[in-house]
Amino acid sequence: MSELDGIIRDLVIANRILAHEGVLDAYGHVSVRHPSHPDRYLLSRSRSPELVGPHDILEFSLEGDALTRKHDTPYTERHIHGAVYESRADIHAVVHSHAPDVLPFGIVKTPLRPVVHVASAMGGKVPVWDIRERFGDTDLLVSTIEQGRDLARGLGEGYVVLMRGHGFSAAGRTLREVVKTSVYVRLNARVLMDALRLGGEVQYLSQGEIDIRLALDAKSARFDRAWEYWSARAGMRASE
Ligand SMILES: [Zn+2]
Repeated sequence: MSELDGIIRDLVIANRILAHEGVLDAYGHVSVRHPSHPDRYLLSRSRSPELVGPHDILEFSLEGDALTRKHDTPYTERHIHGAVYESRADIHAVVHSHAPDVLPFGIVKTPLRPVVHVASAMGGKVPVWDIRERFGDTDLLVSTIEQGRDLARGLGEGYVVLMRGHGFSAAGRTLREVVKTSVYVRLNARVLMDALRLGGEVQYLSQGEIDIRLALDAKSARFDRAWEYWSARAGMRASE
């Protein structure tokens, strides 16, 4: 199997995992930067993640133009991916999700902050990007590269950005890292919501704790264990 075939296989597994773990439903998507052309990324054609197979994966330029099988319908919101890769050389995988658990934190003043150790990649406080601030009334979809670039500015140097009334986008140094971040952002939102319902002062992770966890190698075996587990749950055999 070539390096590209292996990455496409992992991208298919990532689609299935994120669908099975409730991060993606009929909508939402996950991409990976091309291994030998950093100015391209790999992303499925417009298809629900649970159904994505190797033959659905297309190559795009960072501006969002399909470079393979140009007659297939792409995702409207592919510009999220290209704009993040354009602005962040350290990022090699991107997820865009509409997970309902996360949505409340994009529409109220209460910030989404990590309260669970596994969710520390979201950073101390997740920024909220509002498409209306620069583009006025829209259908809320990131459907142009300019909108994608504005979202990427909202992400800044972090790994997760909430999108007001829409969802969130996550960036990772590896595909496995962004899958893990996305699964645990959703879990953290549920735990934080439960804590807020209980009332009283919430104990968030400290910045020191977050920094220590972020320094863990994104390619460490810790990521492989979760990847293997989630792959099996999604009915896929993890690649070696
Ligand atoms: Zn969306």
